[in-house]
Amino acid sequence: MQARKDNNVQGIDVSRYQGKIDWLAVKADKREFAFIKATEGQTYTDPNFVANVKGALSAGLMVGTYHFLRATSAAAAKAEAAHYAKSLEEIGGAKALQLPPVMDYENNPNGISKTQINIVAKAFLTELERLTGVKPIIYTGNSFASNFDSGLSGYDLWIARYSNTKVPDDQPAWKTWTIWQYSDAGKVPGIVGNVDLNEFNGSLTDLKKRYGKEQDMSNPFDGYKITSPFGMRKHPVSGANKFHRGVDLVVTPADGPINAFVAGEVTHAQMGVSGSGFGNYGIVVAIKDDKGYLHVYAHLSAAGVKVGQQVKRGQLIGKQGSTGISSGAHLHYEVRKACSPQFGYTATEAGVVEPTQYLINYYGQTPVKGDKPVTVRDINVVSKWAESAWAEVTAKEFFDGSRPGASVTREEMAVVVSRLLKYVDQKG
Ligand SMILES: [Zn+2]
Repeated sequence: MQARKDNNVQGIDVSRYQGKIDWLAVKADKREFAFIKATEGQTYTDPNFVANVKGALSAGLMVGTYHFLRATSAAAAKAEAAHYAKSLEEIGGAKALQLPPVMDYENNPNGISKTQINIVAKAFLTELERLTGVKPIIYTGNSFASNFDSGLSGYDLWIARYSNTKVPDDQPAWKTWTIWQYSDAGKVPGIVGNVDLNEFNGSLTDLKKRYGKEQDMSNPFDGYKITSPFGMRKHPVSGANKFHRGVDLVVTPADGPINAFVAGEVTHAQMGVSGSGFGNYGIVVAIKDDKGYLHVYAHLSAAGVKVGQQVKRGQLIGKQGSTGISSGAHLHYEVRKACSPQFGYTATEAGVVEPTQYLINYYGQTPVKGDKPVTVRDINVVSKWAESAWAEVTAKEFFDGSRPGASVTREEMAVVVSRLLKYVDQKG
């Protein structure tokens, strides 16, 4: 496999054995990523798991976690994946982290066959991806790696070989490493004793690119559960039929992080006072975007920003809570058309917009760095180039054009494509 490179980004991996870690010191030493031991087997969770994840995240490292595999059957592997996925929920799920979850499969104390090793590995990886929605990567040792067949080469390899000069060996499943754990005896400021040292095959930008989530604006609230949409609804506390001025979103845990959906300037970051435009909203962070709309994050347990501060999209602005009049821990997110008077509050629905559509439009019109622009067009208006084909297929009832809003299923689409192909064949 390939050698180490000077500009490759550096990281560490830790477990309870590193004790209490000063993550700011680790970051200051240019360790940009960390994999943190989460679980092992079907029941064990590392006692420092949550503290390590929170510490590394708050110091600004890119964070992933790993699970030490003990299973010798597919059923046991699935049970281990479930235990790992469940533990990940404590920190907001695998999607809350920048780096993927890891299967640490490195020994074979019960002497199962190579075939069985691959069955166990695939059962764990498939189940873990199903439960977390994130494709895992594989950690293993230089010699144990030879057990894995080429059916696993689609997973990134994180390999251990403690040497600066001897590169990891080529394997049936891999000819390159994605991450190389090149030492188990590293010294890093902020950590007492030895720590494992790792190198990613590329720069920090490359690392972000490889695992960074594409901003998919088809669901601006990815990672949140929407518990109450915008519009008319029965109020959860009063029971009255009332207009809901925003959307209610829930993250886990109850005091989970709230990040800005849109960049802008903080205009309010405290308990909402009655008559201010934020009465009953609890602790409110309000952010004015570049179009003059006000983004309201309500019922927080704490605000993490100050008035006047500029925040970036995705920046941590506070913690979820249930302050004000609230039916439990959630984020009430509302987008107001104006910022004053009364922070743009209106008694009617006139002053607010539907937040999901606002975000989709916002990023469609002004793509920010790293975003894919989203363009939305009215599919009920047939494009010029397709007019005659549309007229023909609707006349033949391949499409039912009388159901505005109805989605075409993949099966319906397949029938159409298949018929079109035959039509083209006949025309020669
Ligand atoms: Zn609400």
